[in-house]
Amino acid sequence: MEQATYNPFDEVVATIKKAAAVLSLPEDDFATTMYPERELKVSIPIKMDDGSVRVFEGYRVQHSSVRGPCKGGIRYHQDVNIDEVKALAAWMTFKTAVVGIPYGGGKGGIKIDPSTLSPGELERLTRRFTAMIAPIIGPEKDIPAPDVNTNGTIMGWMMDTYSALRGYSVPGVVTGKPIELGGSLGRTEATGRGVMITALDILGRMGIPVDTVTVAVQGMGNVGGFAAKLLAEKGAKIVAVSDVSGGLYDPDGLDIPAILEHTKKRQLLAAYDAGTAKRISNNELLEVKADLLIPAALENQITKDNAARIKAKLIVEGANGPTTFEADKILDEMGIVVAPDILANAGGVVVSYFEWVQNLQSYYWSENEVNERLFRIMTNAIADVYSLSQEFGVSLRTAAYCSALKKLANVQKLRGFFP
Ligand code: NAD
Repeated sequence: MEQATYNPFDEVVATIKKAAAVLSLPEDDFATTMYPERELKVSIPIKMDDGSVRVFEGYRVQHSSVRGPCKGGIRYHQDVNIDEVKALAAWMTFKTAVVGIPYGGGKGGIKIDPSTLSPGELERLTRRFTAMIAPIIGPEKDIPAPDVNTNGTIMGWMMDTYSALRGYSVPGVVTGKPIELGGSLGRTEATGRGVMITALDILGRMGIPVDTVTVAVQGMGNVGGFAAKLLAEKGAKIVAVSDVSGGLYDPDGLDIPAILEHTKKRQLLAAYDAGTAKRISNNELLEVKADLLIPAALENQITKDNAARIKAKLIVEGANGPTTFEADKILDEMGIVVAPDILANAGGVVVSYFEWVQNLQSYYWSENEVNERLFRIMTNAIADVYSLSQEFGVSLRTAAYCSALKKLANVQKLRGFFP
């Protein structure tokens, strides 16, 4: 982790200002994007299994509803704090704008390491949190989804709790639900699939055939795991992977299906029988010799302290905010192409949008339809960002922010300000 003063929300604001300067946008036209619309902090009391009471800290931040209902995941992590949630919510606003889906941005979280809770405690925490944020969420207002350490089971509890409070079933209040509760086919792998689509598209533009590519993936969770699986299926060689317990490196390629079979059982890589693969740290993973680096864990991983040592030609950001503002400048100067988070990991929110549309219509699509529509939206957004990057002579990140900012500023202007 970088400097103690790292504040992800300040980083978002700096990136917005940089893009606004490229567009010569007057501050009045983008002022609202630098502030979250609404921040809710809740103190969540839970009866623990031993009969004691503990109170946990939770948040829901709605960054923008200018282009549609707020949309964004719920994170359970011991480091969750208001600045992180504000940044994650803002990134959602820019992400939904880049890919052009009719949503704003929001995010939530609870400051807890969920592995320290029993299944019963986790369910009670989720249900009480849902009840406490219920006044501000809903299919037309704000729609949560999974993020780090949350999943379909947790989304099912959220949907059931919200429905119980309303008195009827409301599947569209959250996305990333189990299929049986109105989840969409293809949602679980959607973010990883979007990362794969982005990587293949950009490698193609760089003239690098996928079957010659070596890949390092930090964070073999939902995003990193599916990205590694799908890229391996396309012929890429995954040479390094990691999770919170550390990483594995094998220049001849790792056995991704075997590793995923292991992590699927919620087991850490530290307990995986690595064979001839070398054990490496998460810091070492970022610096291994690989053409493509996919940070897919947490923010603040590629910093000004390690950016100069990165050997990848292309970085595709599966995680939100893995590269700091300062590191981004260094990578740009080194000529490393960075597919930014708000573009590269948008596949999840795109298929969340499809799930919500299916819920509202009570009419469900095939997995092929989902994947084809995802592919179309991702490749159109990538083409749009590429053309802006060429037009203004800026990085893909700045171009992605320019693309989003233009749409946000335009809609804000058309709506005007109440009163
Ligand atoms: P997850 O909980 O499924 O997986 C996170 C992975 O990161 C795990 O393998 C974990 O062990 C690892 N990890 C945690 N701390 C680490 C550390 N310090 N160093 C290295 N690895 C570490 O979470 P996820 O849903 O895959 O989310 C990962 C990232 O992708 C987050 O930044 C999230 O905001 C972003 N994201 C997720 C989605 C989604 O649909 N789930 C969509 C867009 C973006």
